[in-house]
Amino acid sequence: MTNLTHMSIADALKGLESKDFTAVELAQAHIDAVAAAKDLNAFVTETPEIALKQAKESDKRRSAGKAGALDGIPLAIKDLFCTKGVQTTASSHILEGFIPQYESTVTANLFADGAVMLGKTNLDEFAMGSSNTTSYFGNVVNPWKGADGKDLVPGGSSGGSAAIVAARGAMGATGTDTGGSIRQPASFCGIIGMKPTYGRCSRWGVVAFASSLDHPGPFARSVEDCALLLNSMAGHDPKDSTSAQRDVPDFAAALTGDIKGLKIGIPKEYHADGMSDEIEKLWQQGMDWLKESGAEAVEISLPHTKYSLPAYYIIAPAEASSNLARYDGVRYGLREDGEDLREMYENTRAAGFGDEVKRRIMIGTYALSAGYYDAYYIKAQKVRRLILEDFDKAFEQCDAILTPTTPSAAFPIGENEDDPIKMYLNDIFTVTANLAGIPALSVPAGLDANGLPLGLQIITKAWDEETAFKVGGVIEEKAGFTALPQTLAQKAA
Ligand code: GLN
Repeated sequence: MTNLTHMSIADALKGLESKDFTAVELAQAHIDAVAAAKDLNAFVTETPEIALKQAKESDKRRSAGKAGALDGIPLAIKDLFCTKGVQTTASSHILEGFIPQYESTVTANLFADGAVMLGKTNLDEFAMGSSNTTSYFGNVVNPWKGADGKDLVPGGSSGGSAAIVAARGAMGATGTDTGGSIRQPASFCGIIGMKPTYGRCSRWGVVAFASSLDHPGPFARSVEDCALLLNSMAGHDPKDSTSAQRDVPDFAAALTGDIKGLKIGIPKEYHADGMSDEIEKLWQQGMDWLKESGAEAVEISLPHTKYSLPAYYIIAPAEASSNLARYDGVRYGLREDGEDLREMYENTRAAGFGDEVKRRIMIGTYALSAGYYDAYYIKAQKVRRLILEDFDKAFEQCDAILTPTTPSAAFPIGENEDDPIKMYLNDIFTVTANLAGIPALSVPAGLDANGLPLGLQIITKAWDEETAFKVGGVIEEKAGFTALPQTLAQKAA
């Protein structure tokens, strides 16, 4: 029988439809794969009973001819999406034991289309990080190993989602991307990740980090699967005032392979200092593939790129400090007692938040304080506007922009830990698309000298996910990326 955990969502849907296997068999195969991948620590909460129950219902729907677009497809859900009746922690001690009474719109959309939930995946605490080492529930391990067998980070913050999809424990997953948290882990784990346009996927029921930068989006192992997931996740939601009233196109239909005449922008400022030759080469290779398929390269300039990280690290902590004010020991999860109300707040927050979250709350509170608000927060917002205008100008010259996703491949767990600035540099190529709110897709394009995956990023205009998927599909096809994480390759051999 076909290997149920190695197939694509598109193929699994065909297999289910032609009764090659049932949704229950598909769910069970993934439950077993999740159990086999326990060492990765990819989940905060596994929900095999829910998966089997949903799968049974899915089989019934299919027999009745009522199957939805993703009926029977087993997915992993980042533990930042509220799931009704299932603990949702944001990987923070302060939310431990929090069981939402409601379902996030994105997960509700997926389940309405018949998707099956395998569990809630581990992440950096409140999605703050690039390595999944800030989780209260322990770090996630990348299924890809370093040259010396060393354990590597899966990237962050959606590291659990990326790791389990790469380890063939789930066919796809949800993530959120505030500064790179879908694309960077996708790149580190050798899978596809898409951050859509701001407003494309509802943020309702997603634990807020930085509201103007948070973007829910999908992970999968093929560009087509990613498009199928986004089709289901996206759509207008009256419960999120920033959700756009726009029709959702058929993203998968955009994968025509026809990029003849498309202009691909190469931003000269992204040739960052200290970027490895390997990544430069891969980037060039990516452009060559697109040219072979009839696209044209144009050099573009995004002159304010150098200010994007400083602006991000003002805006994101500022919004986070405000969003996280709600965790006071009264309304959610953890409470530590105190002599009076104020002490109870203080004790709860001191015990409930980890170091990185505290650092962000302090930076954010400072940036928003009287006297500094104009100097920092307003200034950062002005820089954000300039970055958006850079993109507007660039898109007068090109249809899509090609860049590396990350400045390096996955690094060993523990590295960069005591140097937050170095950790923040991980987002150098991803964060601009968050500031501008525009779509960006990461596609695995090759391996580095140590056999670790590297991704290329395609950025497009607002609401033009279709071009990103189309160009991404060409990179995928040309790269022919079929490498498996070493642990799986050994098993397959
Ligand atoms: N690494 C970035 C940060 O730490 C982005 C995280 C994210 O996108 N959630 O803020």
